[in-house]
Amino acid sequence: MSATELDLLVSGALRIARVIQKRTSVLHHGDYASDTPDFLAQLIERAASHAERRLMALRTSGYDPAASCDTARVWFAYLRDMYRHLRFVERATVRRTPWSLVKPFEELAERLHAGARFLIRPQWGYNYGIVELVHHYRRVLSASGTKEDLGRIFRGIPKRLYVTSFAGVERLNAPLHVVLGHEVAHPIENQYFSRVRRTEGAVLARALERLLDREPDCLDKEKLPKTSRTIKTIAELRKNALRELMCDHACVVLFGPAALFAFEELGRLLGFDTFTRDDHHPPWRYRLRHALELLPKPRVDSYLRRCGLPRDVRASVLNRCQRIQDLTDDDTDLQALREHVDTDIAYELVRESLPKVRRCITGRLANSHLTLSNLPTTGVRELVERLEGGILPNEYWVAVSPDEVPTTSWRERKPIPADLRAILISAAIDRTHRLPSAFISGTTQEAVDDYHDKCHCADRLVLRAIECSHLQLHYPGGDSGHGDTDG
Ligand SMILES: [Zn+2]
Repeated sequence: MSATELDLLVSGALRIARVIQKRTSVLHHGDYASDTPDFLAQLIERAASHAERRLMALRTSGYDPAASCDTARVWFAYLRDMYRHLRFVERATVRRTPWSLVKPFEELAERLHAGARFLIRPQWGYNYGIVELVHHYRRVLSASGTKEDLGRIFRGIPKRLYVTSFAGVERLNAPLHVVLGHEVAHPIENQYFSRVRRTEGAVLARALERLLDREPDCLDKEKLPKTSRTIKTIAELRKNALRELMCDHACVVLFGPAALFAFEELGRLLGFDTFTRDDHHPPWRYRLRHALELLPKPRVDSYLRRCGLPRDVRASVLNRCQRIQDLTDDDTDLQALREHVDTDIAYELVRESLPKVRRCITGRLANSHLTLSNLPTTGVRELVERLEGGILPNEYWVAVSPDEVPTTSWRERKPIPADLRAILISAAIDRTHRLPSAFISGTTQEAVDDYHDKCHCADRLVLRAIECSHLQLHYPGGDSGHGDTDG
C-alpha cells in the first residue's frame, strides 16, 4: 500500500467531512419546532470536525500505510453515517412535521426519560420508529478520542437524543400520532431486555424443551444445525413480540381509547393478520387483543362516564370498542401463528412472559405518574363539544375556587389550557362520534368524502389547539399563573 493510496483515501474522506460541516452550518438556520434538531446538527458537526483532525493526523503519523488506509476507511464509513444522519435534522423543520405537536410531545416523553430529547421527523415509508444517536456517537468516537476530545464534542449535548419517526404522509392526521406514545416507550423495553440478558439461556432452554415435545428427534445429529437455528428464531420472535406489546401497553396508558383507535386504524390499513418474519412484529389483530385486555369495553365506559360525556357520544365510542372486540374474537392471526412450529412456540412463551413485562412497564410509567386510572378526564367533555362545534379545543372552563373570590359574575369561571393527552383523546372521541354507522356497512362515496373532509378540518383544529394550549401553559398572561416559561 503506497503513501499515494493513503493520500487519495484521506482526501476523499476529508471531502465528506467538509461537506458535512458546510451542510450543518446551513442546518443551524433551519426553522424547527424545538431546539433538539439543532443539538443533533451540533453533534454531527463536531463529530465530523473530530474525524477531520484524525484523518489529517493519519497523513503525518508515519504509521504503516496499510494500517492507516484501514483506519481511513473506517472513518469514511463513519462519515457516510454522519451524512445520512443529517437528513433527520433536515426533515425536522416546521414545514415537514405536525410542528405544534412536537414540543408538547417532547415534554411528555421527557417525563418518561429524564435528560433525553426527542427529535420528531417524517419518513417516506409508512412507518413509525425510534433510534438513539448520542449513545451511538459516544460508542463510535470513544475509541479514537481523548477524554478532552469527547468532552468538547459532547459539551451541552443531551444525555440521549432519540430520533422518532412518523409516516410523513400522515403529517396532519393528529389522532394517529398518539402512536408516537408507543415509540417513546422503546427505550424502556430496551433497558428491560438488557437487564434480563442473563436469563436468555433459560429462554433458549424453554424453547428447546417445547421443540422436543413437538419434534422428539430434533436433537438427532443431522437435525442439530436446523434445531439450533429454530431455537434462536423462537427466542428472537418472543423477544420482539414482547418489545412491541410493552410499547403498546405504554401507549394505551398514555392515550387510553385514542391508542386503541389508532392501532385499529393502522391494523386496517396495514392488514390485521400481516406478519412479517423480518421485523417479528406481532399481527395487529394480536396487538389489538392485547390492548383490549388492558382497556376492555367496561373500563372505557367507566372512563367516558368520568369524563361526563353525553350518552350518544359514549354509545359511538363503545360501538367502536365493540367492533374492535369483534375483530379480536376472530382468531385468524392465532391460527396463522400456530401453523409454524417456531411462531407457535414463540407465542406460547410470549403469553407466559406477558404478566412479568406488563408489571415492569406499568411500574415504570407509574413512577412518572402515568397510569390508566389517571387518564385525563377534566375538560374532555368540553373539548369534544368544542370540536363538534368547530371551535379550537385548546382550553376548558372551570369554576374558580372559593379563595379566588369572584368580584364580578364573568369571573366565576376561568379557562384552563388543556394538555396534549386530553386534546388527543378528545380528538379520537370526536372522530369516532363523527363516524356514521352507515359508513361501516358501506355508504355513498359522497358521504365518505364528506366524512374525510370533516376529519381533516377537525385535525387542523386539533393541531392548532395543541399550539395554543402549549402557549397558554408556558406563557400565561395576567394572573393565571400556570407553569413556567421556557424561553
Ligand atoms: Zn415498536
